[in-house]
Amino acid sequence: MILGSHCSLKAPDYFLGSIKEALSYGANTCMVYTGPPSNSKRKSAEDFKIEEAQSLMKKNGMAMEHIVIHAPYIINLANSKKPETAQFGVEFLKEELKRVEQMGAKILVLHPGSHVQAGADIGLEWIVRGLNEVLKEDESDVKIALETMAGKGAECGRTFEELAYIYQNIEKKERIGFCFDTCHTWDAGYDLNDFDQVIQQFDEILGIENILVFHINDSKNPLGAHKDRHENIGKGYIGFEILHEIVHDPRFENVPKILETPYIDSKAPYKEEIEMLKEM
Ligand code: FE
Ligand code: FE
Ligand code: ZN
Repeated sequence: MILGSHCSLKAPDYFLGSIKEALSYGANTCMVYTGPPSNSKRKSAEDFKIEEAQSLMKKNGMAMEHIVIHAPYIINLANSKKPETAQFGVEFLKEELKRVEQMGAKILVLHPGSHVQAGADIGLEWIVRGLNEVLKEDESDVKIALETMAGKGAECGRTFEELAYIYQNIEKKERIGFCFDTCHTWDAGYDLNDFDQVIQQFDEILGIENILVFHINDSKNPLGAHKDRHENIGKGYIGFEILHEIVHDPRFENVPKILETPYIDSKAPYKEEIEMLKEM
């Protein structure tokens, strides 16, 4: 089982610090942002202590291909009302792909974007155009994993069909995959009590081989609430049993699974949650 959590990447140890943090949780992978998730100021990846991180990973049997990078959530390729914002997202992602490649990682998670009340059709069109431009000159083998969204506000990617529209219009399809977030799909209205049925639907529309990463979160809200508020494992509406079944699904044995559950009393819950989920 490839299981880890969100970890921080910050001074002085950067990526090396992230790996140390992951190991302290008993994880064999992790997900990081290349800087603050809420802004786009970025240090050069030269400073990230990448080689030291990689050698620590090797010593502990962690594989680089399971490491996940998350793009900042302020990036919005779908903002047709402020084209300069969408264009900024394109330029940022071009640079972000280079940082991910420098780190040796292969998966960059991206929220598709918000159509800012211009309508989903227009939003999706802008995402397609933006992604095609981002990928046009990039020769790396980093894949962009579009995340399934809860459908909060004007979020695009709230249904598998919306994600399929993006995928079908991408020129370099080999560079695109998906991130299946359990809290988001639940909040979007996919009943994970019947995980097999949801996965069958996903397979028909997007292809399960294109799931590059899972985000494993419980939800503070009932099915279809369109809220996107993560809850600790077993404490929300999805519940422990379903999440446990998902992380143990043999079809996804080699797919990294990342916890993004909230801190409890300003303490990371990941060590305990990873232990709970690993138990047979
Ligand atoms: Fe996300
Ligand atoms: Fe997520
Ligand atoms: Zn979320």
